[in-house]
Amino acid sequence: MITAAVKHTGHRHPRPRSAAIVDDIIAQLSQQGYRDTEPRRLVINAAAAQRRPFTAEELCAALPCVGRATVYRGLRLLVETEQVCRVLLEDRELRYQLSHQGHHHHLLCAACGASADLANCDVDALLQEAAATAGFQMSGHWLEIYGRCADCAVV
Ligand SMILES: [Zn+2]
Ligand SMILES: [Zn+2]
Ligand SMILES: [Zn+2]
Ligand SMILES: [Zn+2]
Repeated sequence: MITAAVKHTGHRHPRPRSAAIVDDIIAQLSQQGYRDTEPRRLVINAAAAQRRPFTAEELCAALPCVGRATVYRGLRLLVETEQVCRVLLEDRELRYQLSHQGHHHHLLCAACGASADLANCDVDALLQEAAATAGFQMSGHWLEIYGRCADCAVV
């Protein structure tokens, strides 16, 4: 569905790495009742074009034709629907990247900025136990792993 109001003049959009990823996200959103609008599709396209975890501002910069509020709203929807996950790099700036998994963590390379998923998380029971000792009712955890990827490892 095309809605009016988006004007593309004097800029190019980055190309998503794969059109299939974008179609898949749009299909999943529409299954959950979210309409396929052009601004939303542009946000998904731009997110899928990023090669490294990106900030919301970088996404806005890639989409001069879409209002900031719309970009932020689109990004929030993608996070809420788990199509995009949040990544906290060592510079402490919150970034985002596409996600197609449930609970997972990120292996973040300080040298090249690459982010890889660590799907097998078995620290939950350990943390539940430690939290319970403090009389704390734990509802979840968020953990990033910093270091160097295989390509950047110091030998
Ligand atoms: Zn545009
Ligand atoms: Zn992730
Ligand atoms: Zn690296
Ligand atoms: Zn975990």
